[in-house]
Amino acid sequence: MDMIYLDNAATTRPLDEVSGTVCETMKNVFGNPSSKHMKGIEAEAVLKEAVGRIAALLKVQEKEIFFTSGATEGNNTAIIGTARRKKRAGMHIITTKLEHPSVREPFLKLEDEGFRVTYLDPDEKGLISPSDLENALDDETTLVSVMYVHNETGALQPVEELGKLIKSRNKDICFHVDAVQAFGKLKVLPKAMNADIVTASAHKFHGPKGVGFLYIKDGVKCDPLLVGGGQQKNMRSGTENVPGIAGMSKALECIYDEGFEERVKEQYDLRSHFIRELGSIENVKIFCGDSAYTAPHIVSASFLGIKSEVLLHQLESDGVFVSSGSACSSNKPGLSFSLAAMGAAKEELDSIIRFSFSYETKKEELDRVIESLKTHVPFLRQFVRK
Ligand code: PMP
Repeated sequence: MDMIYLDNAATTRPLDEVSGTVCETMKNVFGNPSSKHMKGIEAEAVLKEAVGRIAALLKVQEKEIFFTSGATEGNNTAIIGTARRKKRAGMHIITTKLEHPSVREPFLKLEDEGFRVTYLDPDEKGLISPSDLENALDDETTLVSVMYVHNETGALQPVEELGKLIKSRNKDICFHVDAVQAFGKLKVLPKAMNADIVTASAHKFHGPKGVGFLYIKDGVKCDPLLVGGGQQKNMRSGTENVPGIAGMSKALECIYDEGFEERVKEQYDLRSHFIRELGSIENVKIFCGDSAYTAPHIVSASFLGIKSEVLLHQLESDGVFVSSGSACSSNKPGLSFSLAAMGAAKEELDSIIRFSFSYETKKEELDRVIESLKTHVPFLRQFVRK
């Protein structure tokens, strides 16, 4: 039985070019980029090449790119680093009820430290309203953090509009965008969003795990989270993950090639097809179905009456891999905060399955998943207590 992997929002399969680059770099370029000899200079050159490639894709300056161990570190640095640094200017910070735990937890930590936090509510489409943000901004606001693409529903926030609004109020307010789920699916241009800091994680765009980067606009004040050897202009101490960074920049180069737009369009078509087919199964609630407000790769649906994990394992027995809500929160049992904030009922939250595609996903695979669902869903519903 062929595997059907529909958990690409949790992680993606590294491209062959990426694993090749990682292995080659690991074997051949093993010097420490801070060493003064030839082996160090060789490793430093790999970092320089990666920075150049990433900066060119984002249309930003090379000095504005910093390597991290992934988005959890990136988000923690962006939020804690800016809020603490700007403490004197104000103690009010803003985020949304939609954010990933790597954003939500730093905000909770800052709240404990005495910061005043506003958590913006989404509407039932999973969107943040610019006028709600406008009303929340005040003279003490120093930071606004909003995700670009939601990891459970695919909802796309109007980041360009939000960025414009923040900057028209006060250009010194730091605008941070967690763009983890957007990279590889949309073009991410920090300047167009008026973003001061943008977070990325390589394993979400067919790169290696445990490596990512931050865009930090030149001149933006943000304290480092990790201190030590002073690497990366003191912004992020620690020897750089040279093979991982080489693999990450290779992944970006491969994903954003000349076929990118066409592949995105194909994924949107597949998404619409899948949503239409899901509609033929009884009592299924689809979240954020409208493609006008979503990324191309995520469909979340509740199969009412069936516990998420039960259906997840039934699908697994057919070789289909999906998530029950978001994979990142599965270490912390509980229902989705974001979908609850969008007004989802407990019964809907209990029965959510997230299907997430990649450019490798085929229509025939999705049709096979629909067939599996059409078998398992009515069968499992027979055992639901009335
Ligand atoms: N932000 C979002 C929106 C995510 O989806 C994830 C990963 N699920 C993260 C941050 C954290 O990424 P990582 O696990 O690579 O640190």
